[in-house]
Amino acid sequence: MDIRKIQTSVIIIGAGPAGAGTSFFLTKEGIPHVVIEKEVFPRDKVCGDACSGKTALVINRANPEWLAEILGNEQSFLPSWGITFVAPNGKALDIPFSPNRTKETKAPGFTTPRLILDNFLFNKMPSPYCTIYQGASVAIINDSDGSVTVQMMHEGVQYEISAPVIVGADGDKSMVRKKYLNEHTAPKTYAVGLRAYYEGVSGLHNDNFIELHFLPEMLPGYLWIFPLPNGMANVGVGILSERIREKKINLREQMLYAIKNNPQIAPRFANAKLADKIQGWGLPLAMERQPLSGNNFILTGDAACLIDPFSGEGIGNALYSGMLAAMAIKEAKTANDFSAAFLKKAYDDVVYKRLGEELKISATLQRLCKYPWLFNFVVNKAYKSPSLRNTISCMFTDMDLRDQLSKPSFYLKILFNK
Ligand SMILES: Cc1cc2nc3c(=O)[nH]c(=O)nc-3n(C[C@H](O)[C@H](O)[C@H](O)COP(=O)(O)OP(=O)(O)OC[C@H]3O[C@@H](n4cnc5c(N)ncnc54)[C@H](O)[C@@H]3O)c2cc1C
Repeated sequence: MDIRKIQTSVIIIGAGPAGAGTSFFLTKEGIPHVVIEKEVFPRDKVCGDACSGKTALVINRANPEWLAEILGNEQSFLPSWGITFVAPNGKALDIPFSPNRTKETKAPGFTTPRLILDNFLFNKMPSPYCTIYQGASVAIINDSDGSVTVQMMHEGVQYEISAPVIVGADGDKSMVRKKYLNEHTAPKTYAVGLRAYYEGVSGLHNDNFIELHFLPEMLPGYLWIFPLPNGMANVGVGILSERIREKKINLREQMLYAIKNNPQIAPRFANAKLADKIQGWGLPLAMERQPLSGNNFILTGDAACLIDPFSGEGIGNALYSGMLAAMAIKEAKTANDFSAAFLKKAYDDVVYKRLGEELKISATLQRLCKYPWLFNFVVNKAYKSPSLRNTISCMFTDMDLRDQLSKPSFYLKILFNK
């Protein structure tokens, strides 16, 4: 069989947010790259569909017109102005993202089905520097003499694509990660999530607050209800895999039981209809520092286990790590050095410098969430204290403030109303 051979500067496996983020910023630097994606877009991805300010930040950096397009299309991208925490005791606490919002303030976050978001990003990728093969299957990744070669089939044609560096943007079950890191890395900290699309859920917040219900039986995980455009809602549960194993939990049953029986939740689903089948997927959480690169490879997004361990947010970190990967590749290309030592400095160290602190705080918060009494205590106090509510609100944008949450002094101060 005829084999088509292609030489390029970068091979990206996967065209989700991590792959798209890498591609946008390689294009900005004028670096040629090939993106190989096994699905054909538009394609679905099991997710809560909530996008934070970090997602908006990276899209804006890639091209401010793209963010304007998103913010101007509420039919597809629903602006969200805050978050409702429901404590294990059932008490709800509304925390606006922008407590001092004016008419000009743009919503810091938005929700949109991944089918729409990922397709939006995918359609922004084509450029003179970017060649995309979708519906392609990668058979083998080989590396030798400072070069990586990928063999793949696309529309009946066999390709052999070579580059000095490969970017693993291929999600939770990353084949790039498996090839390069399997034996060298700490076991993944995993959560498992289920997603269900409902129409007709009542009692959603007027400002489209996303809702996290910390039900006692799911701690440190939660059930979420996220309003979506067109009267839909993304409803799901996320819970640590070790807890599922320990307690032998049937996640689907537990979610449906809460929807049917929880006194706060059930009445809101009285007239709601499940619009699609319930689907599950894994969440590789960033609980501790791990290697993100090595000789001639870089991992991004879920392939790099960069999901926030408290919120479960991974889209923003996928885009952000893609952006940092592109910058690291630019440096490596200039130095003509794709060695593990160079990429560690140019990529791993930068990722952890920018995201490390926030991930560490989130890991601590996730551990604290095991204690329902602590959660109830903070929410009870915040319920009565506008200034504490304001402090928690600011924690969404101020990492130093969020850090307080992981310190005992914070709880002592609340206890004594300081
Ligand atoms: C239940 C659940 C709820 C979640 N909720 C949220 C949320 O509300 N907000 C949030 O920010 N994050 C959420 N996340 C996390 C978020 O979905 C991920 O962090 C995010 O999708 C990571 O993006 P990625 O580009 O790294 O991977 P993906 O989005 O998984 O994209 C990987 C791409 O690689 C392709 N691919 C895989 N293998 C190959 C291969 N061998 N060859 C070629 N292509 C390949 C796939 O087809 C896919 O297109 C949730 C996750 C789950 C499971």
